[in-house]
Amino acid sequence: MVIKEAKFLISNTRVDLCPEPNKPEYAFIGRSNVGKSSLINMLTGQKGLAKTSQSPGKTQLINHFLINDQWYLVDLPGYGYAKVSKESREQWRKMINYYMQKRENLTCVFVLIDSRHEPMQVDLDFMQHLGELGVPFVIVFTKADKQSATKTDSTIAAYARKMQETWDELPRMFKTSAEKRTGRDEILQFIEEVNAQ
Ligand code: GDP
Repeated sequence: MVIKEAKFLISNTRVDLCPEPNKPEYAFIGRSNVGKSSLINMLTGQKGLAKTSQSPGKTQLINHFLINDQWYLVDLPGYGYAKVSKESREQWRKMINYYMQKRENLTCVFVLIDSRHEPMQVDLDFMQHLGELGVPFVIVFTKADKQSATKTDSTIAAYARKMQETWDELPRMFKTSAEKRTGRDEILQFIEEVNAQ
C-alpha cells in the first residue's frame, strides 16, 4: 500500500466522540517508550504525525488519524509506566477497556513490544485480555536495529514459547525498526489485505 495521505483528525478520551465508525480501524498500543510514535511516523512517512517521547504522565488520549481516506490509524496511550499514579492507571484501564469493547469498526490491534526484552508479564497479560475480549491483534517487535538479528529472533521465540502455554494459535508477528524502516512494507501489506477481506 502506498500512503498518499495521512491526516490527524481528533484526540479524545471518549469512544462516542471518536470519528464515525464507517472505516476499518487499526490501533497501536504498547508499553510507554516502546517506540510507538516512531513506528507510526515511519509507517505513515510523516515525521511529526505522532509525537515522539510525549511525557508519559500527560493526559491519556485516543488519537485518530485518517489514512488515504480509507482507514483509521489510532494511537492509543501506552501502559506500564512506573511513575503513573494508581488513579490514572485505573482511568487508562477503563478507557482502553471501553474502547476495545465498544469501538465497532476496530479491525486489529497492533501490540508493540521492545525486541530487546525478555517476555514481560504486563504485555502477556494485555494480550490475554484482548483474547478474552475477542479483539484480533498482531505483535510488532520494535527497535530491531538495536541488536543482532539473532537476539531479536530469540526474543520472538521466547514470546512464542510463552504464548503457546495459553494460546492454540499464535498471532502474526512483525519485526520492525523505525530507524531502518524495517517491517514497513509487511505491515502496510497486511493492512491492505485485511481491508480487502
Ligand atoms: P513511544 O513512547 O512508544 O511513542 O516511543 P517513541 O517513539 O517516542 O520512542 C522512544 C525512544 O526510542 C526514542 O528515543 C526513539 O528515538 C527510540 N526509538 C524508537 N524506535 C526506534 C527504533 O526503531 N530504533 C532505534 N534505534 N530507536 C528507536
